[in-house]
Amino acid sequence: MPELPEMENYKRLLMENIGNKTITNIQVNREKSINVSIDFFIDCVRLQKVLHVERRAKLLVFHLENGYKLLLHLMLGGFMYFGREEDKPDRTVQIQFSFGEEDLYFIGLRLGYLHLLTESEVSDELEKLGPEPLDINYSLDAFLKLIEGKRGRVKTTLIDQEFLSGIGNCYSDEICYDAQILPTKGIDELTNEEGGNLFHSIRRVLNLGIENGGYMDQPFFPGDVRTGGVRKFLKVYDRESEQCSRCGDIIIKEEISSRKCFYCKGCQR
Ligand SMILES: [Zn+2]
Repeated sequence: MPELPEMENYKRLLMENIGNKTITNIQVNREKSINVSIDFFIDCVRLQKVLHVERRAKLLVFHLENGYKLLLHLMLGGFMYFGREEDKPDRTVQIQFSFGEEDLYFIGLRLGYLHLLTESEVSDELEKLGPEPLDINYSLDAFLKLIEGKRGRVKTTLIDQEFLSGIGNCYSDEICYDAQILPTKGIDELTNEEGGNLFHSIRRVLNLGIENGGYMDQPFFPGDVRTGGVRKFLKVYDRESEQCSRCGDIIIKEEISSRKCFYCKGCQR
């Protein structure tokens, strides 16, 4: 599932390609991917300019000229593609927005959705989410206070969207590796020093993800070489049985609370 860096990458790409452009046509092939009738959706969205695209946690908000918002959650398997009909991946498209000659395709939206909401409805949806880990106001002190007295393992705490928003399965493993902390360790067992390391690793790993275009394997447009660039920097995620680049031990895959978890026993404590 795309996480904070992947959605940040999409936000940037969307702004570059559809920012201030008018949605000239809409096709909805799967009514379940939206929250209102297809007719109402098209009435509200067609001929609107996309003024701005904003990211919050793993979601994107498209701000339309008429004040309506589109809330996108790609969930597992969802992705976007921008280009001409002949270039698009050979996959079933759930929703298609035309911008003149080019189209934005929403693909793989099975659990994912694109909801048409008012400003206050969007606020209600986002209200329960925890702080943005890269928010400049989110300090080390605030983080240490949050983990104080918190129960649960380090990995499950990092992916808890009410604790911190935007981190999922991949980056939680990479963050634990970067901080040299076992993902299976209890968050209440961390020393202040380890807590500090974890805080800095969250920033370092998420920023690395953003700077390198996230890990999505589908390019956003023909010739997009940016998207997916972080995959070569991932140290443990999906690297079961490979050698750890830090200590040479073998990377382990384990299930924690029914989630895949990758780590190195040699150098994570
Ligand atoms: Zn190691």
